[in-house]
Amino acid sequence: MFESLSDGLQSAFKSLRGKGKLTEANMRDGLKLVEQSMLEADVSYSVVQSFMEHVTEKAVGRRVLMSLRPGEELVKIVYDELVDILGPVDSSLHLKADGVTVIMMCGLQGSGKTTTCGKLSQLLKEQNIKPLLVAADLQRPAAIEQLRVIGRQLDVPVYAEEGANDPVKVCQAGVKQAQQQGARVVILDTAGRLAIDKELMDQLARIDKRVKPDQVYLVVDGMTGQDAVNSAGAFNEALELDGVVMTKLDGDARGGALLSVKHVTGVPIKFIGTGEHFDALEPFRPEGMTGRILQMGDMVAAAREAHRIVDESQREELEEKMKSGEMTLDDFKGLMEKVAKPGLMGKMMGLMPGMGQLKDLMNSEEAAGGIKQTIGAINSMTLEERRNPKIIDIARRTRIAKGSGVQASAITQLVKQFEQMKPIMQAMAGGGMGDRMQLMRQ
Ligand code: GDP
Repeated sequence: MFESLSDGLQSAFKSLRGKGKLTEANMRDGLKLVEQSMLEADVSYSVVQSFMEHVTEKAVGRRVLMSLRPGEELVKIVYDELVDILGPVDSSLHLKADGVTVIMMCGLQGSGKTTTCGKLSQLLKEQNIKPLLVAADLQRPAAIEQLRVIGRQLDVPVYAEEGANDPVKVCQAGVKQAQQQGARVVILDTAGRLAIDKELMDQLARIDKRVKPDQVYLVVDGMTGQDAVNSAGAFNEALELDGVVMTKLDGDARGGALLSVKHVTGVPIKFIGTGEHFDALEPFRPEGMTGRILQMGDMVAAAREAHRIVDESQREELEEKMKSGEMTLDDFKGLMEKVAKPGLMGKMMGLMPGMGQLKDLMNSEEAAGGIKQTIGAINSMTLEERRNPKIIDIARRTRIAKGSGVQASAITQLVKQFEQMKPIMQAMAGGGMGDRMQLMRQ
């Protein structure tokens, strides 16, 4: 995510790190690099200006220049300022305690709106909250079918009227059906266009006025840079948005839109889309995102990913083991088998502090092979060795290595890895759902 922005900021920090005391001129040179990487990432000019003003004011202060580690102080200043321009964010869906909550989704064609309707349904279902999808895009003939397919995939009911021509009526009927069926949330998939036009805005404003949704979200494609910011501004004038969902941040989005939307339009980003699958929707957290941009990791997101990988029964078993401290290499093997899915390990590593650089490595074929080797090596151990890896001495190591066809040093490495993975396993067993749960708080 945002590799070039991340790399640009890293080289700015690197130019100042380890220099001991700095002069104002040194610091200003470093700041120039920070500014340059933000402009290259297509961050709106007004955002860069205001950001640089604040950062410069703090960074050339006496306290920072005289400190022993001015480079690190600068990282902290940049971190705080990024968190400030991205937030504050309330990523709650504000569900009503009683009755149906109506969420209206809008966006230009291709932004990922319909997919996001599916992702939100999935999120709700995970919390045992029943959603109903309403096909209110009557412009595009295939839109109704697309939503129906998503509904079938996720086992979520879809309200649609074949041949209807008034989206307001469809939405109203959909809300009624949700009430009858006991659904708690209605998600309106409204029409999109290739570009903003008056007719589209009028239609959306009519739905807004007559159906009175509780929340109105705009879906924007993060890869479209400034266009995403401009469309957020235009939609917000017509509709008073409650939040933005920025999609496709898994692609080669440069990050500019993400950093600009809140500052330019005043509308917070509530969720980000990080893939085509229905589980690739994350509540937006300025601290976590800033951590990822500055390659400091995002432990909350890592824990959430980890938590999703294991199912409920395994989780209980793991939790028990974590409590009693009986985690063994067999459990480790079980988790490795789960994590060894394409892309998953890389994603996890990208979120771990200090492991960002390992991401590509972990996504490679070699990494998949490495995981297979690990599993093979554990298979070659005795039950006792798996329970208590500390007893693995040179003789045992040689035997295991021979049995599984790996180098003896790989066995040492494996035991070390097991220790390092413990916090992740802990997350898989317990925490990590915290902020997803928070979402649903009213
Ligand atoms: P709509 O016209 O706004 O309803 O857009 P769709 O929901 O049909 O999405 C357009 C395309 O974007 C589809 O191919 C989706 O799979 C893809 N898409 C949506 N969200 C994401 C995302 O977060 N990441 C990626 N990589 N693709 C996405």
